[in-house]
Amino acid sequence: MKEKFNQIIESVKTARRMLITSHLDPDGDSIGSQLALKGWLMDSAKEVRIINQGKIPSKYLFLDEEKAIEDFDSAKAIDWSADLIFVLECPNLERIGEVKKLLKEGAKVINLDHHPDNSFFGDISYVDTQACALGEIIYELLTSAGYHLDKRIATQLYAAILTDTGRFRFSNTTPEALRIGAELITLGANPKEINNQIYYNNSNASLKLLGFLLLNLETFANGKISSLVIDQQTMEELKVSKEDTEGFVDYSLFLKGAEVGVLFTQKNDSKTKVSLRSQNSFDVSALARTFGGGGHRNAAGCTVNQDLNSTKELILKKIEEQLSR
Ligand code: 5GP
Ligand code: MN
Repeated sequence: MKEKFNQIIESVKTARRMLITSHLDPDGDSIGSQLALKGWLMDSAKEVRIINQGKIPSKYLFLDEEKAIEDFDSAKAIDWSADLIFVLECPNLERIGEVKKLLKEGAKVINLDHHPDNSFFGDISYVDTQACALGEIIYELLTSAGYHLDKRIATQLYAAILTDTGRFRFSNTTPEALRIGAELITLGANPKEINNQIYYNNSNASLKLLGFLLLNLETFANGKISSLVIDQQTMEELKVSKEDTEGFVDYSLFLKGAEVGVLFTQKNDSKTKVSLRSQNSFDVSALARTFGGGGHRNAAGCTVNQDLNSTKELILKKIEEQLSR
């Protein structure tokens, strides 16, 4: 068994109160991984809470039947403290946002990640950049601990791996990803049901927003850059919440010839979220890092403190420069 896993399993044995958290605006991998981890911890702990900053996209609510994930803004946990804290999928502690306020002195921090830009913060760091999703690492940890994965946990981990591999399509779709996927199906995960819940269960309003985005798709650099925009006014008119636009950036690379896809989401007049996707060797994480963000080579993001149009101009220029190098 991996030495780090041993250390984690030992830490769990002596902990009394545990907190699980992940990055701002949780996605499929962070949600599935946190819930599966909680399932195991509940076996041995008195108290385990999952607190994130940002709402869960509605397409993932089926993974959390017990409504275990609390949103920091409504969690009322400021006076609560844990002695063991799991931080999932974060390169540094800034990525957990306001939840950082719950990290009291003396608490042990366990950092679990698969991002290449992880800064190895915390008391125990386990970072495997070869893992297709954090869900793969959680699968290995739980099975190393001899824990039997029931249907619910298999479903949560399958969803984590499914979403981070782009439905077993991205370059991180390794033999291991498929082997674990197959094992999770054997344990009760239902691939059709999980796919339907996540990808084919859209609200009328969010499909209309997607239609609007695609109608206004723009290309640059002779079609190598594909750009989508979500502005606040359209979101308000269509009554779509921001968490329900998760995954829309993927459509930017549906275009023949597109090498870099970008989605600009207007947060307010001076803040714009940028989601980046790329094919092959174009490294979008390097670009995101220059704006204080990060991610993987082919999927990254950042938030720019400028209005929508200036951000668009700035980022598109940087992508064009990188393409012509
Ligand atoms: P998305 O575009 O779906 O929000 O994120 C794609 C990838 O980039 C994910 O791995 C995500 O964790 C990472 N990412 C997105 N935004 C940020 C950010 O602001 N900071 C960092 N460090 N990573 C980000
Ligand atoms: Mn992930």
